Amino acid sequence: MIDQPYVYRHRELAEPDWRRLPGWADVTARDWESVQWQRAHCVKNIRQLRHVVGGGLDERFYADLERDQAERATMSMLVPPQMINTMVPDLSPADPGFTDAFYADPVRRYMIPAFSDRHPEWPSHPRASRDSLHEAEMWPVEGLTHRYPTKVLAELLATCPQYCGHCTRMDLVGNPTTVTDKYRFELSRDDRLAAMLDYLRAHPGVRDVVVSGGDVANLPWSRLESFVAGLLDIDSVRDIRLATKALMALPQHWLTDDVRSGMARLAAVARQRDVSIAIHTHVNSVQSVTPLVARAAKAMLETGIRDVRNQGVLLRGTNDTAARLLDLCFALLDDAKIMPYYFYMCDMIPGSEHWRLSLAQAQQLQHDIMGYLPGFATPRVVCDVPYVGKRWVHQVARYDRELGISYWTKNYRTGVELDDAFALEREYEYYDPIDLLPESGQKYWRSGAGAPVAAVS
Ligand code: SF4
Repeated sequence: MIDQPYVYRHRELAEPDWRRLPGWADVTARDWESVQWQRAHCVKNIRQLRHVVGGGLDERFYADLERDQAERATMSMLVPPQMINTMVPDLSPADPGFTDAFYADPVRRYMIPAFSDRHPEWPSHPRASRDSLHEAEMWPVEGLTHRYPTKVLAELLATCPQYCGHCTRMDLVGNPTTVTDKYRFELSRDDRLAAMLDYLRAHPGVRDVVVSGGDVANLPWSRLESFVAGLLDIDSVRDIRLATKALMALPQHWLTDDVRSGMARLAAVARQRDVSIAIHTHVNSVQSVTPLVARAAKAMLETGIRDVRNQGVLLRGTNDTAARLLDLCFALLDDAKIMPYYFYMCDMIPGSEHWRLSLAQAQQLQHDIMGYLPGFATPRVVCDVPYVGKRWVHQVARYDRELGISYWTKNYRTGVELDDAFALEREYEYYDPIDLLPESGQKYWRSGAGAPVAAVS
């Protein structure tokens, strides 16, 4: 018999037992499923991590983490218990090998980065930058990015219930870190949101609004509901997508009665007006898909919204094999009814080199996942090219593999190029991680031929 490169097996979802962690040994299921308990027990610093995991985690990890926070981290630490519990789900801290398993854990690698994870010579690419997608340059209203002709991104707030080490919006989202300060919105939230709705009323060519942040789960429900109701009142808006990683990281939020009934009200109005509301979440690893996450996704679908979709990020050590991506997609599809949609290449922010993949690797992953999932649920692997937008990884125009520079073209003007006659003729660049280049390519960047390393703050 000839083996297939990937063998599908349906796996039952399981909630790891949080009582294996010393700090949560006495926590009841009722507390675990309470959003208030989850928010109150998020891990925000090393002291709290030590309290939860205890002495089973070697001191070398805590020291490694402390050094990362002092010298590299662009995001502060904020991890809900729900996410901590999915790290090393099959071992308790007292078991032999726990520290090595914690280091290797796919969720730990991007939620609790350690100094030794990062590349010693190239923690950042010389062309990395804050706001690497130039979203703020494309704000006609503070927080409203108008990059594509028919769609906008509305950043309603700058916080999340969880902070991911690789966050693209590290410029804006979260608390300042030792090496990174954060942009602070100048207008009050109410003024910004009102100005966004005014802009959309005045621009009927925009039919699709991604409502994001941050994470919409951190906005009081009544404020989110009134903003979405405002969108539903604009005839030209046909698609509304609510961005929340918390559907996975804090499913307890999406299971509360207030949120469920509020979403049902919005879904009813949307159906009446023929508008599609969807939730877009951000799951990178199969172990994050637990029964509670599946319950939250299904609860949202039961309100009558159109879909729940996943936009993951390709990260080295987390999901950089076809088997890991396919395991994740099948768990999402089979048991949580979440549609696999995109896997993004990690953006070129400072400190992200050890997470990023090369374009060639991303193309290979797209190749290798084809044919297993239904076509409608086969995610596209995309590169978000600065000043361009999402491109499928096989759409590259030219690719210099020696220097790790890919060249891309586009077929529309972003908000900053409306008067630029040559915008559609130019090529736009994206860069592979330097440590994955052949020696000659590494030498080129080492020689200083590229731009100097971007300042982090
Ligand atoms: S949830 Fe999204 S916006 Fe929030 S820190 Fe993670 S990647 Fe950034």
